[in-house]
Amino acid sequence: MNFFLTEEQELAVDSFARFLQAEIKPIADRYRGEKIPKAAMQEALKLLLPYGMGNGLVPEELGGYGFDEVTIGLLFEQLAMVSPDISVMILIQTEVGMLLVDAPEHIRESHLTPLLAGDLLGCIGISEPDVGSNISEIKTRAKQDGDDWLISGEKCWISNGHYSDFIVVVSQGEKAAGNGLALFVVDRDMGYTSADIEKMGLNGQSTAQLFFDQVPVPADRMISPPGEGLKTLLTLLQGSRPLVGLMAVAVAQCALNESIQYAQERKQFGKPIAANQLIQARIANMSIKIEASRLLLYKALDHVHRGLRSDLQAAQAKLFATEAAVDVTRDALAIHGGNGITLEFPVQDLYRIAPILTVTEGTSEMQKLIIGRILLGIPAF
Ligand SMILES: Cc1cc2nc3c(=O)[nH]c(=O)nc-3n(C[C@H](O)[C@H](O)[C@H](O)COP(=O)(O)OP(=O)(O)OC[C@H]3O[C@@H](n4cnc5c(N)ncnc54)[C@H](O)[C@@H]3O)c2cc1C
Repeated sequence: MNFFLTEEQELAVDSFARFLQAEIKPIADRYRGEKIPKAAMQEALKLLLPYGMGNGLVPEELGGYGFDEVTIGLLFEQLAMVSPDISVMILIQTEVGMLLVDAPEHIRESHLTPLLAGDLLGCIGISEPDVGSNISEIKTRAKQDGDDWLISGEKCWISNGHYSDFIVVVSQGEKAAGNGLALFVVDRDMGYTSADIEKMGLNGQSTAQLFFDQVPVPADRMISPPGEGLKTLLTLLQGSRPLVGLMAVAVAQCALNESIQYAQERKQFGKPIAANQLIQARIANMSIKIEASRLLLYKALDHVHRGLRSDLQAAQAKLFATEAAVDVTRDALAIHGGNGITLEFPVQDLYRIAPILTVTEGTSEMQKLIIGRILLGIPAF
């Protein structure tokens, strides 16, 4: 067991953190409180790609960097501290890239290569207005029609959705050979439309509804045949849930940093509030929750990197880290007193982001049910 970063990882994190302050923070600051336009998001993406953000997990022979999952996590955590919104875009680009690694060669050429160059933005459409936790009940239909499939349905909560040039859409395949979830790569100009959803936080990036009305998709755009889609998605989630957890760590770490500074500066009863034992207890608990989250998350990513089955580790780590971020950001508000709830101080923003992370890529309840099923051998859902 080794809890230390390699020299290469330390250097990568240091130089990346400096780059983020110089190049990415100005973009995030320019659009603080607003939606980051697609052009600016793509500008950020192109700046981040040379550091392996958005392309780092894809093998070198396919145009990525072939980094290990732990190194990607270390860099991603830094990015999420500077801009949670831009980190969502990078998370989705990363996930789409991983789905396309095993796609047929013509799709790798037409979609993976431009994705890795930052020329295309992708998204993944699983959730629907009536279908969230139970993926197998997806209602979007893909019906075979000669050489095409006609896709009809509505997707909801799709990150990168309104920016997207294409989507990996999950639909129920309908054909004589068999049903079940299938994955298709569908271009925006094939006919899907989108509309952004306003949320309590993370509004700098796009979370959208997407509409498919008999969209014709050539059969060679299928990347998982009917019945194979669920397995593909569950494998993807083992690696992506810890990254959502690292967003939560980043949010919580920012809340802790703000709280330490505020507690040292704010004076009541003739002394800094940091001199009170109850404030110190809060700070101590916040720091422990963040550090415990990190250990679980990097352990989960190490599992993924070693090619081990990681659904238990990913669920435990994502559940713990995102719930910890809710607690830590609430503690940060408390330490800031009245100032905490004003828009002038950043802790309210962090407090509005944390609960969102307990929902995306599977709610906390679903993570508990996954853990329970694995440990007990009996599904309760
Ligand atoms: C910011 C954001 C980004 C997202 N990005 C994407 C994306 O890019 N692509 C995509 O496809 N989806 C995305 N999602 C959707 C996300 O994965 C779903 O919101 C999530 O899976 C929960 O589904 P739901 O919202 O329909 O809640 P529901 O499934 O309706 O759940 C409602 C409540 O009931 C609970 N519940 C449900 N079933 C059970 C059960 N059996 N036992 C106990 N409790 C239960 C849930 O835990 C929750 O508390 C995103 C969501 C958010 C908020």
